[in-house]
Amino acid sequence: MKRLWWVLGAMLALGVLLVVFARTMQHRYHAPAARVAGGEVMHARAFFSDLYGVHAGGKVLLFDAGVDDEGGALDQLLLALEAKREDVSDVYLTHGHFDHVAAAPLCTQARIHVGAPDAAMAEQKVPMLAPWPGKLLNALMPIGPVVPSDRMPAAQARFTHGADQVIALPTPGHTPGSFVYLFRDVLFSGDSILIDGAELAFAMPAFSLDPAANRRSIAALGVALKELLGGRPLKAVCTGHMGCTPPGEAQRMFDALVARAGS
Ligand SMILES: [Zn+2]
Repeated sequence: MKRLWWVLGAMLALGVLLVVFARTMQHRYHAPAARVAGGEVMHARAFFSDLYGVHAGGKVLLFDAGVDDEGGALDQLLLALEAKREDVSDVYLTHGHFDHVAAAPLCTQARIHVGAPDAAMAEQKVPMLAPWPGKLLNALMPIGPVVPSDRMPAAQARFTHGADQVIALPTPGHTPGSFVYLFRDVLFSGDSILIDGAELAFAMPAFSLDPAANRRSIAALGVALKELLGGRPLKAVCTGHMGCTPPGEAQRMFDALVARAGS
């Protein structure tokens, strides 16, 4: 009996340590932010989540908003872009998971775009749309609700920012409302496409609602991008947790993934 209490006490202590560790790391960032994708894009990381920023149309656009709801990584990113939170006109969310949306509400002037099927999750009106490992991580690192201003239906959409365009492409699978975004031939893939060594990889099944749908989405994305790029190579694929593809490798890596998606 005494041993049982020791084991239970040790497990409780480990649990508390885990929570303290996760919540401390949630608000840490890698400093300073750095240029990626041939200099087109600024990148910062909050704990294990990537966020990206670009200048377009005299404003700043963000692709994902990380896991830190206090905005440490966001401010680092904006500092590198010589901008303030109020300068962000749009936050393009790849999906509604907590570790990609946390800092979005801190950009008070921004339109927040998310796939319609993920909107209720971001608002925390429904439980997290993920298998249990994702829900466990969310319990360790809770964030506040994120209310989207644009709930995108599952169709290709274009947003104009001065001379630039953001093209939103639906990729349901990781979550029902997952999207990827094309900007100046850079693809922001969130968790729909990952990097595994020298190759791209599909969404992680442990954190994805429908891995088979993710593969079908990548196959369809291959067709869509071929048309949109018109023969130009992808400049980079920038992922939600593993940064961007190395220079000159994106198109080869993407083609190989699409081939695997179709097989
Ligand atoms: Zn996710």
